[in-house]
Amino acid sequence: METITPIVIVGGGAGGLELAAKLGRKHGAEQVYLIDRETDHIWKPSLHEVAAGTLDIHREGLSYFMLARDCNFTFILGTLTGLDKDSKQIHLAEALNEAGQQLFPKRTLNYGTLVIAVGSKSNFFNTTGAEQYAITLDATAQAENFRLKLLHALTSNVVGSSHEPKPLQITIVGGGATGVELAAELTEAIASFHFYGVNHLTPERHLSITLLEGADRILAALPPELSARATRLLQSRHIRVCTGVRVTEVQAAQLIDSEGNVYPSDLCVWAAGIQAPLFLRDLGLETNRMNQLMVNARLETMDPFIYAMGDCAQAPWMGGEGYLPARAQVAHQQASYLYKVLSARLRGEHHPAEFKYKDYGSLVAVGHTKGVGSLMGVLSGKSWFVEGLVARTMYMSLHLMHHAAVMGVMRTFSIVLGRLLLKRSAPRIKLH
Ligand SMILES: Cc1cc2nc3c(=O)[nH]c(=O)nc-3n(C[C@H](O)[C@H](O)[C@H](O)COP(=O)(O)OP(=O)(O)OC[C@H]3O[C@@H](n4cnc5c(N)ncnc54)[C@H](O)[C@@H]3O)c2cc1C
Repeated sequence: METITPIVIVGGGAGGLELAAKLGRKHGAEQVYLIDRETDHIWKPSLHEVAAGTLDIHREGLSYFMLARDCNFTFILGTLTGLDKDSKQIHLAEALNEAGQQLFPKRTLNYGTLVIAVGSKSNFFNTTGAEQYAITLDATAQAENFRLKLLHALTSNVVGSSHEPKPLQITIVGGGATGVELAAELTEAIASFHFYGVNHLTPERHLSITLLEGADRILAALPPELSARATRLLQSRHIRVCTGVRVTEVQAAQLIDSEGNVYPSDLCVWAAGIQAPLFLRDLGLETNRMNQLMVNARLETMDPFIYAMGDCAQAPWMGGEGYLPARAQVAHQQASYLYKVLSARLRGEHHPAEFKYKDYGSLVAVGHTKGVGSLMGVLSGKSWFVEGLVARTMYMSLHLMHHAAVMGVMRTFSIVLGRLLLKRSAPRIKLH
């Protein structure tokens, strides 16, 4: 009989980390391994806040080494590059430091059961110049890169100039939840600069945000009523919303669309769609056009010892239409499901149920500062709109559920309390 341990999970994001934590607590570090290319875990839906500077990554990130100790799994720092299904081995890339010195050589690792949960990255759809000039929010480093560019641009644009500075032009390509939330968050960031008196910056005079969407409305996946409401909210915050725009070229200081229209741009963020990492195509497993691994309703790939979950998998939507969307909510529920499947396997049993996604609705935060915080959602086909503390709490609930699944309810409570207290002494925005 083929061995099914160790269970090796690659990718410690919204789905993979939850699975590793649950399995580790139950079955121990000898049976459960987590591999990630980063040393710290970040909740990806927070990255637009990191980019705007309203969330400090150095307080938000959680060390995988700490989590491994607490949750009793083995953590290995490494980047998956390849797979040998016959010998049940994975290949990890050589790791270099910033100076180009080798940290680790190439390695191979045996697995009994493999779970691939490496997430997704932005899809530039072969748009000229996009990869070169646009910034994405795929990982912490990119969000931090945007934040620093924003900070430098805002201060250098104004410091030392006696005349009225020209507004900083930010273009966001993609009017889905990420683009909408980032646009709103940026106006809040500027309001915080204004609060601290930094160069007397005000959103209306010093920031010009343009949101460009290819479809005929933003938040196209949600009901039209919500799109209309979001558009009005963004416009009330001086954000220009342009729909039906297909960006064909990104240049250093401007964007061009298919009609030849030009959009000036000092900073461009690309949030127009996702794809799974390219190397998944070369693993000898079935993939789709977006490089996602095709899985069945039990989240199995064509190899019975390899599962895939989260954004990097295309899973059928049982009881729904088509395939499951790339969302943290899906990854969270898939982690709970695979925990049951793999625990049963370790006991020598079979978990008969297929994965069934429960859609609890979508939430889109249009800023969160006290007084103007607003959030829209859709639940069972009904759309609604909430504001203030209720909105913020609802928005945070998925993040809190993730923390609770990883660290338990008591530690989550302590962390939330600690962060609330820290917020009182720290600046509203990261100013350095
Ligand atoms: C700005 C932003 C806002 C979002 N807001 C929401 C929201 O409000 N609600 C919602 O439901 N969803 C939201 N999403 C989508 C959500 O973040 C993803 O659907 C979710 O994180 C997917 O989880 P995952 O576990 O599949 O992948 P991820 O959470 O992306 O984790 C993937 C992990 O794999 C690691 N990794 C990648 N490649 C390798 C490799 N080769 N080797 C080793 N490790 C690797 C990465 O370091 C990462 O830790 C948002 C996304 C973004 C970018």
